[in-house]
Amino acid sequence: SNTRSRLVMGNWKMHGNLAQNATLLAGLCAAPRSASGALLAVCVPFPYLAQAAEALKGTTISWGAQDISAQAQGAFTGEVSGSMLSDFGCRWALVGHSERRSLHGETDQLVADKAQAALASGITPVVCVGESLAERDAGQAVAVITRQLAPILALGADAVKKMVVAYEPVWAIGTGRTASPEQAQEVHAAIRAALAAAGAGNIQILYGGSVKASNAASLFAMPDIDGALVGGASLVAEDFVAIAA
Ligand code: PEP
Repeated sequence: SNTRSRLVMGNWKMHGNLAQNATLLAGLCAAPRSASGALLAVCVPFPYLAQAAEALKGTTISWGAQDISAQAQGAFTGEVSGSMLSDFGCRWALVGHSERRSLHGETDQLVADKAQAALASGITPVVCVGESLAERDAGQAVAVITRQLAPILALGADAVKKMVVAYEPVWAIGTGRTASPEQAQEVHAAIRAALAAAGAGNIQILYGGSVKASNAASLFAMPDIDGALVGGASLVAEDFVAIAA
């Protein structure tokens, strides 16, 4: 806990359909606002951005995409540009989620290019970083994250100040095995130090990896954890809202 505002962001991944989304979005709109003052956001699959924009209009809940092209426009079949997203009023774009890095071969430099493309369209990139279990066991967690962040920090303080970072240890994503608050805080502090050295020490750093209502409060009590990026528990309105309670 600290003076930075709290952000609880859902990542629906490739789940949902029009009917299920309508139920989920209506549930989010109907939920009482959290006493903590946390801001809620959802990152939805591209085809449902317009549905989310419509359903969340006039609420404090914002929405974003799960990816963004590094390119502005052109012959890039299947890609979605920042200007297309901002056309709908998109506020956020995840970049470098571990599933994009591992399943789609996204490099640290590509992730930084995507973050830069988001900023160029007025979209806040949520830069996801995190080590694998093997890397953690080898004592390499902070080294891996430092490497992942290097091309991001090279974009300069003015750019980084407009970003959000999400620390998501790969071994904690979708596994039910969350990092302990102390494990997460240790890495968050290292990320904060790297950001501070680059002139952007006060941006929000979210934790992600099997966050649910029962473990959120102890994570949020840590000095450098400013909110959460939530996968599985973001698919049921009551579960998601309870994380921000
Ligand atoms: C994620 O994929 O960003 C995530 C944190 O997933 P989960 O909450 O399901 O572990």
